[in-house]
Amino acid sequence: MRYSQLLIPTLKEVPSEAEVVSHVLLLRGGFIRKLTAGIYTYLPLGLMAIRKVEQIVREEMNRAGAQEVLMPMVQPADLWMETGRYKKYGPELLRFHDRHERESCLGPTHEEVITDIARKELHSYRDLPVNLYQIQTKFRDEIRPRFGLMRGREFIMKDAYSFDVDDAGAEVSYRKMYEAYRRIFIRCGLDFRAVQADSGAIGGNFSHEFMVLAKTGEDTIVICDSCDFAANKEKAAVVLRPAAEGEPLRVMAKVETPGKRKVETVCEFLGIGPETLVKTMVYKADGVPVAVLLRGDREVEEVKLKNLLGVADVELAGEQEVFDATRVPTGYLGPVGLALRLVADQEVAAMRNFTVGANEKNHHLQNVNLGRDFQVEAVGDLRRITEDDPCPQCGGRLSLTEGIEVGHVFKLGTGYSQSMNATFQDSDGQGKHFVMGCYGIGVSRVVAAAIEQNHDEHGIVFPVPLAPFTVIVLNLGGKDEKLCELAESLYGNLQAAGLEVLLDDRDERPGLKFKDADLLGIPYRVTVGNSYAKSGKVEVRRRRDGVMEELTPEETVAFLRERIGAELKK
Ligand SMILES: [Zn+2]
Repeated sequence: MRYSQLLIPTLKEVPSEAEVVSHVLLLRGGFIRKLTAGIYTYLPLGLMAIRKVEQIVREEMNRAGAQEVLMPMVQPADLWMETGRYKKYGPELLRFHDRHERESCLGPTHEEVITDIARKELHSYRDLPVNLYQIQTKFRDEIRPRFGLMRGREFIMKDAYSFDVDDAGAEVSYRKMYEAYRRIFIRCGLDFRAVQADSGAIGGNFSHEFMVLAKTGEDTIVICDSCDFAANKEKAAVVLRPAAEGEPLRVMAKVETPGKRKVETVCEFLGIGPETLVKTMVYKADGVPVAVLLRGDREVEEVKLKNLLGVADVELAGEQEVFDATRVPTGYLGPVGLALRLVADQEVAAMRNFTVGANEKNHHLQNVNLGRDFQVEAVGDLRRITEDDPCPQCGGRLSLTEGIEVGHVFKLGTGYSQSMNATFQDSDGQGKHFVMGCYGIGVSRVVAAAIEQNHDEHGIVFPVPLAPFTVIVLNLGGKDEKLCELAESLYGNLQAAGLEVLLDDRDERPGLKFKDADLLGIPYRVTVGNSYAKSGKVEVRRRRDGVMEELTPEETVAFLRERIGAELKK
């Protein structure tokens, strides 16, 4: 296509409304425009990028045996009342009445509608398994829509729903979707991880979030440098290193520690390392105080504490609350003789002869041992994982990184089919509830996440598979007829080679053309300018790393066809 005929309203200034880089660049590059809070128009280039994602998603869903449907955006409230979600979903569900006063809502998701289809159209085990998907505009009335396409109110999503006769079948459907998602994000050219979304307490891992790695991501995840391990930081299991063998239990001793109330000052005063000290922290677990024991240099992971205690909420107790519960001055709390519920991190159970507060002002106890000197009601993995911990899967090196959730696969079970009484006749003649799974991809979010991961100070750096165009030809020939002809013929020949080409035929300064080409993030730039007269060559530059080649027009076509073909095949 010709730049002069496309609506690409690029901006020089950074729009003040934009907080994250994808939002800034999508606005500056003329990909999107805001209509109102959290609601955007996709201009030609934005829609092209969206369509690229959709096409990959569609191909892989079809390959996995899913069938495409398109469900309505407007949904009757009755269906949502059947599952109880009309109340539970909260204000993100946009509700309204039509002219006949029928209650309706705008679909933020389609479990109710699809389950209604299943109960009406799928009658026998012979009809199963079935996986139905759609690519559609969704609406969630976010209280604070932000970050452009990252968290809009209206967004494009692919959602799929599987129906199986039993758990085993549902697990097969789940695996298929997991694999399809891996293929999708690989084909999109993104660096991503599939993160276990629950801790696997109910057996098996049938919920994964697909995260695009990007510094600006909202979720912190732990990934392994050597294997495919990835987990939410709050849930990543810490591997317990074996205890130091052979150290004999020594006699407990009280020592004076005048005015030393912090881990560092106690350690400095006693000449010990924080790894030999155990700190006692008081949390309120659903309001009830619980003392948590942790090695001196570790931090509590509150999600893990909540799970160990089986409570809804934990909160660190304030100094006064601790004093009221224990009558021990701040800084001298310890487990020996403490009349409070006690839980310990697994590491503490493996330590010997450690130092703790003596429950008495200006005193600590040394050579304390769990089991001999005090008991706890539970021992578990309670601490935050660090980059110094080994990978729980392979022992490799871990790193902490940020991720943006772009997909989620989830085994639903029979929750929806039970509440909506959706059954089929099984081979034994019995009516049974469908076992369901649901699988989402935020299509518009993928475009934003791709930019969060791939950009530099000049603009977007699109992965080849998502770029609206893979080549931009800059005609810098001005009034030079020969150069203009060359640019035109290159444009034609590149298109004939099957490439998606944008010809910058605008009557603009070269500087502006270069700037816009960088801003739009088109993977390869071909510059037709004055140097051609001398060398017979044009300049081919890769956006990602600025690597340049001087090639004849014929070489250029062959080179780009080969390069781009290889990147699309990955
Ligand atoms: Zn590993």
